[in-house]
Amino acid sequence: MVFLMTLGSGCGAKLPSNNVPEAGISAELAAQRAESIRNLRYDLWFSVPASATEPILGRVAVHFDLLDNSHPVVLDFEPGAESIESVSLHGKPIGVDVRNGHIIVPRDFTSRGPNVIEIVFHAGDASLNRNPDFMYALFVPARAHLAFPCFDQPDLKAQYNLELTIPKDWQAVSNGAEVHRTESSQNLVIGFAETQPISTYLFTFATGKFKVETAERNGRTFHMYHRETDDKKVERNRDAIFDLHAKALAWLEDYTQIPYPFGKFDFVLIPSFQFGGMEHPGAIYYSASGIMLDESATENQMLGRASTISHETSHMWFGDLVTMRWFNDVWMKEVFANFMAAKIVNPSFPNVNHELRFLVSNYPSAYGVDRTEGTHPIRQQLENLNAAGQMYGAIIYQKAPIVMRQLELMLGADQFRDGLREYLKRFQYGNATWLDLVKVMDDRSDKDVTSWSKAWVEEGGRPSIRTELNGQSLAFTQSDPQQGRGLTWTQQMQILVGTSAATQTIPVEMQGARTEVKDFASISHPGFILPTGGGLAYGDFTLDDASRSYLLQHLPELKDPVARGSAWVTLWEELLDKRVRPADFVDLALRALPLENTEQNIQLILGHVDDAFWHYMSEPARIALAPKLEQLYRAGWTRATNSSLKSVYFRSFRSIVRTNEGVTFLERVWHRDEKIPGLTLAEPDEASIALELAVRGVANSATILEEQRGRFQNPDRKARFEFVMPALSDKPETRDAFFESLKDVKNRRREPWALEGLGFLNHPLRAASSEKYIRPGMDLLIEIQRTGDIFFPKNWMDSLLGGHNSQAAADMVKKFLAEHPDYPIRLRRIILQSADDLFRAAEIMKSSS
Ligand SMILES: [Zn+2]
Repeated sequence: MVFLMTLGSGCGAKLPSNNVPEAGISAELAAQRAESIRNLRYDLWFSVPASATEPILGRVAVHFDLLDNSHPVVLDFEPGAESIESVSLHGKPIGVDVRNGHIIVPRDFTSRGPNVIEIVFHAGDASLNRNPDFMYALFVPARAHLAFPCFDQPDLKAQYNLELTIPKDWQAVSNGAEVHRTESSQNLVIGFAETQPISTYLFTFATGKFKVETAERNGRTFHMYHRETDDKKVERNRDAIFDLHAKALAWLEDYTQIPYPFGKFDFVLIPSFQFGGMEHPGAIYYSASGIMLDESATENQMLGRASTISHETSHMWFGDLVTMRWFNDVWMKEVFANFMAAKIVNPSFPNVNHELRFLVSNYPSAYGVDRTEGTHPIRQQLENLNAAGQMYGAIIYQKAPIVMRQLELMLGADQFRDGLREYLKRFQYGNATWLDLVKVMDDRSDKDVTSWSKAWVEEGGRPSIRTELNGQSLAFTQSDPQQGRGLTWTQQMQILVGTSAATQTIPVEMQGARTEVKDFASISHPGFILPTGGGLAYGDFTLDDASRSYLLQHLPELKDPVARGSAWVTLWEELLDKRVRPADFVDLALRALPLENTEQNIQLILGHVDDAFWHYMSEPARIALAPKLEQLYRAGWTRATNSSLKSVYFRSFRSIVRTNEGVTFLERVWHRDEKIPGLTLAEPDEASIALELAVRGVANSATILEEQRGRFQNPDRKARFEFVMPALSDKPETRDAFFESLKDVKNRRREPWALEGLGFLNHPLRAASSEKYIRPGMDLLIEIQRTGDIFFPKNWMDSLLGGHNSQAAADMVKKFLAEHPDYPIRLRRIILQSADDLFRAAEIMKSSS
């Protein structure tokens, strides 16, 4: 093997040192490469050994045309020089410079026109998710170059030819269909069909011990790869999973008027997957638990599954066929996927109130970030792809759909759809920016889409909107809570006015600082005015005093479930702004729950009660409330006529149970001495009960955890439980050791495990003894961001702070921020987002004590 690498500054390459690209992929490097590289193709081979600790050997031939060779060709490869065996150009070994995670090929070697660079390397493991019996590549947002040399940016789309050498008894799946396989005594070699042009973050392969289910729908064959050991569970779920995919595909082909663009269609269910799903064309990945549902699955989980499947399928057009040019527009593909998913899922769930679903699944989460000091615009700046992970979050997943619905309302559904068709057609197999779409829409419409986009998309935060009621005149005023900006947001609102007996909806287009409601004088004296009542309006609403009092009394009597849902969301915001007392909110919830007949509202209320209970109440107040609450939840599942609602109540009970009687009951359920009629508890349910019992310090908790560990049939779930167990120990030193272990990146590789452990470590019942983890947990954040997947920093902070509500804890966070004035801005935002509840709780607790 020839090794001609030249390293460091002593290299002979003719490369001025100021030309060495910075680490990661800067916007500048990406733009320069996008300009000069065409017709890109990767011929890739990986040899994956059975043992997860042995290295994966790889080889890549990068074929491309250079439009001009005034710059060196810079490939990205994070593992660096020690992982490179050889580099050759047109078959001849060459010397290259390897620095800052790049392979720099001096321009002397390359020429205009066709070039082929061949590299033999050891693949980096960081984005290959290697487990004992399986592995999967996950390259979003720019992690392909952690594994193999490539141009790791979304607007250098390439065609991939992949060949894998794998252990004989393994399966393999990639973007392209399998086209050949050769078997030897030890190994299996599988070749995959060349892909369409796709971005690096969408290229993938998974291999290991998977079971494969096959089904045909509408003349297309689908494959599902999974590791579920419970055959009955597979049987119960499989048809629904295939049906949901087929339905989504058919709907999207019709809406876009473009046939599915990527040939074959498979998907892989991965245990403890980092995300709900990932849209690799031809090989979608899902978190197994979100797709293979237990018998006790709630209506929300079934809807969630349908939405996730439709979301990922929508990405085949929105994201995969037309891709953002740069990751600052990643929100576009996410909002379209969510938006289409909502349209697709609706007909499959005729019994569900979809307006209400849109409300409860988007508004609370969007507010959860947009109300904080850590909020940011939907469209952000991004200087380097190594920060791309920080683009993701509730602002793009939940606020953007609300904003997109406003755009559709403004343009009209048909014009909006036709604009999207034009955009997809024009940019297919290529890249486009948000501004490209704004232009398409602006050209087709007489509305000023550009100005609208400025307030909603290019700036962060939400309007503060107040009701102004003066005798017979009603107006809404809006102001910008951000100092010195003076934005106004144009939006469609549906105002609900009336009494619990009779209501009326008034459409209002909010424009400018003050919007007067015409014809309000003709309405006889209303009991309440709810600007969010129709489920559309977005902002921080201050109700007039009379309406607030009226709703705190009569909310459960409102007839329309969307109005009730909106009222709950609005009152919760009022609680956070200290205009509604937590005790009054909970009291209203206790009266409302027995009367509420919509599962989504019940979930919403139970979620808020849980939040109020653990965050905004003192321990004595919790103890005082617990008997009533437990009684109410038990009555709830007894009354419920379907298992999903029973399950909703049972899970809430499990979360808040505080009385001796309640805990004893839960223990009996776990021992299988007590049954809840109509509710079957599966392995994960029993595991959760065991953990909840342990965190409550029941006398024999160590035995319960041990016994639970022995009960597991599923090895993946068992391994997760074993990992989390020490976090539940009644011995403080064991818990401390668990926290210490999280400082080692190896113990954070399975992120959902680490998060579950960290969450229990900081459970409200352990808050006093776990405050000491806050500071070191925050000290780790930069490393967490550097070594983890995209949601990990936010989830880490949520798990670390979620159980705390003391002034001391709030002060620790503030002290950390004060001591780090130059902290990376996006991580600072994440801290401010995660700490918002803690800050408010500390304030509210102060004023209520
Ligand atoms: Zn997505």
